[in-house]
Amino acid sequence: MTLNATHDPSRQSWVESANTATCDFPIQNLPFGVFEDDGRGRIGVAIGDQILDVAAAIETESLELEGTVACALCSETLNQFMGLGSSAWHAARVGIGDLLSADAARQDRLLRPMGDMTMRLPAAIGDYTDFYAARHHATNVGRMFRPDGEPLMPNWLHLPVGYHGRASSVVVSGTEIRRPNGQLKPEDGPPIHGPCKLLDHELEFGAFTGPANPMGNAIAIAEAMNHLFGVVILNDWSARDIQKWEYQPLGPFNAKNFASSISPWVVTMEALAPYRSMGPARQADDPPLLDYLTPTPGSADAIDVTAEVTLCSAAMRESGIEPMRISRGSLSDLSWSFAQMLAHHTSTGCPMRPGDLLGSGTVSGPEKDARGCLLELTWRGTEPIELPDGSQRKFLMDGDELTINAWCERQGAARVGFGSCTGKILPAL
Ligand code: MN
Repeated sequence: MTLNATHDPSRQSWVESANTATCDFPIQNLPFGVFEDDGRGRIGVAIGDQILDVAAAIETESLELEGTVACALCSETLNQFMGLGSSAWHAARVGIGDLLSADAARQDRLLRPMGDMTMRLPAAIGDYTDFYAARHHATNVGRMFRPDGEPLMPNWLHLPVGYHGRASSVVVSGTEIRRPNGQLKPEDGPPIHGPCKLLDHELEFGAFTGPANPMGNAIAIAEAMNHLFGVVILNDWSARDIQKWEYQPLGPFNAKNFASSISPWVVTMEALAPYRSMGPARQADDPPLLDYLTPTPGSADAIDVTAEVTLCSAAMRESGIEPMRISRGSLSDLSWSFAQMLAHHTSTGCPMRPGDLLGSGTVSGPEKDARGCLLELTWRGTEPIELPDGSQRKFLMDGDELTINAWCERQGAARVGFGSCTGKILPAL
């Protein structure tokens, strides 16, 4: 994707808070989300510490867009807008950027203070699929669960492995997470039913799909990026003890269906254009890719996003201790791109609908502090993390609050942030 005037790093907004160097939401970002207004969803765009009320901008003719685009942006979710495709997304981005530019007249009446607003899920998510695209994560997990075999399963290097997740349990950042009950298998006894003891997070990113493909029609890899609207932070909460007992032969089920949190602001693929990269090269002895998964030569389908995970226990909060950083990862460590995931997902003719969610899988890099879940960070609980309140963590305890922040930075481009994705653990019922 080519860069255009909306990416110009020197561009400023009349919303002063958007012009600071550390702001997640400068005028070059313009992510879309849905805030609550009088019990209804309303589409907004984040700018500095404010939300632009997009429907109000359209109603007052401060923002003039073609009829179908304007209509989609006045609905309660982003699904319709996501379905319109890249020329509509670009037109809206240009119009909103011009409206918020420092060259334009101030229109404070179109703003809502972000801190006062309740955010909703950006889309009604019809389907959610979670992949397993980071080689270091798949290798680490393979080493722990199958110490005697090859860490990577034979299919992993040939296709982006995934499972169909549970869209109904995707929640927006800030939603409290209830520790699940489930069937557990103690080492030396029969299965029991009770609270999960090995509750984990997974640092991931999610991509929202754009225009639908009719059932039976695959989305070709060369077209895949045009079918992806944007990216959010995703925390795929995981019950490792439930997972260990249930996962063979059909994969995760109850271990993954109680909650997955996403950040409220969808950073569009166009906003991410300055941060596209080639991703890690395939290794010399890796098998060649089949044609339907082979990217167009030179296409930079990876995205350089850095993420940081922090943990804050109840005792830390009570003593005023800052959250502790437990890991830092990069989306560019993924071996399979979102474009490859989408091409593979639809290669059977599986129809995607606007607002479906594709999870990247746990983002883990080569370094120990780049491991994206506690299972890997504590090596299945054998190397606990020391918290500043004097306690240890192998897995998450009740009262723990886990937060993921993410951002893109590159010389010659404006910093673009994702905001945060957070959730606090409540005790099991
Ligand atoms: Mn996952």
